[in-house]
Amino acid sequence: SHARNLAAASEPGRTADGMRVEIFANLASAEEADRAVASGAEGCGLLRTEFLFLDRADAPSEEEQAASYAEIARRLDGRPLILRTLDIGGDKPVPYLPMPAEENPALGQRGLRLSLARPDLLKAQFRAILRGVPAAQCRIMLPMVVDRAEFARARALYDEAVAETGVPRAPLGIMVETPAAAMLADGLAADADFLSLGTNDLTQYALAADRGNAATAPMIDGLHPAVLRLIAAAVAGARRHDRWIGACGGMASDPLAAAILIGLGLDELSATPAAIPALKAAIRRIDMNEARRLAEAALACATAAEVRSLATRAIREAA
Ligand code: PEP
Ligand code: MG
Repeated sequence: SHARNLAAASEPGRTADGMRVEIFANLASAEEADRAVASGAEGCGLLRTEFLFLDRADAPSEEEQAASYAEIARRLDGRPLILRTLDIGGDKPVPYLPMPAEENPALGQRGLRLSLARPDLLKAQFRAILRGVPAAQCRIMLPMVVDRAEFARARALYDEAVAETGVPRAPLGIMVETPAAAMLADGLAADADFLSLGTNDLTQYALAADRGNAATAPMIDGLHPAVLRLIAAAVAGARRHDRWIGACGGMASDPLAAAILIGLGLDELSATPAAIPALKAAIRRIDMNEARRLAEAALACATAAEVRSLATRAIREAA
């Protein structure tokens, strides 16, 4: 029941057989952090920092950013905070950024690509994060990474920012949200400190279906076996280098997907705050051996519909 879920929500995420799965929250403002903590979030798995950059004439100063990140860290009260660097593109024009009109913004100069075109802004954001967020809580994550060369360029800027602030170096991770990053996760995991699957974009790019197009949006299902195989490749890459790997796209909020994601080997699920109590309750009913079997079976399916019916049956049997 809802009341029982809420009462148990403050306990750490764990499967029925005691395997630890961290349950974090996706946030896009300071206000949401209180709600997330009240709902049982064990940390923030994705802070979408765009809120600081949109709807204004000039970029936020380093001081303004640092104060804002510090406030969110304070509300999380010591819990880990994963801050994603700016992730916008041609679909959300910003007057102070170099954004020519693009025919296909989803494949354009967005995310890390845009940040690398404005290294001054990226470095200012790195410094603001390092100065604002207590070292024990701080982790930084890059969006839309494709390969190691791109990561190396970002890391060089990050190393400069670390040197300039003189504060301890926080872990620098990547989002795996392009099929390229999933296929190259082995090499990327050698360089990056952690990985987090952005299943919204990963699904859009794997299935060649626009997230924002009403005609193709129904095709966007992260439980498609093509997406699950990319996730499995990402987990294998992370494991080879002993890296922590989570998921922060929409499917991480879906209790039906949780058993498969956990069975595939994820360490963390980052969900919308409202979904956390039900997600933790669903995970407490999952047995790891069954989750692994379900994930194996899902990888062998032909369609998302087949995976959904498999998962639905497995959950019904476990209940
Ligand atoms: C994703 O792509 O899954 C993700 C978490 O990032 P966003 O939804 O902000 O693109
Ligand atoms: Mg994304």
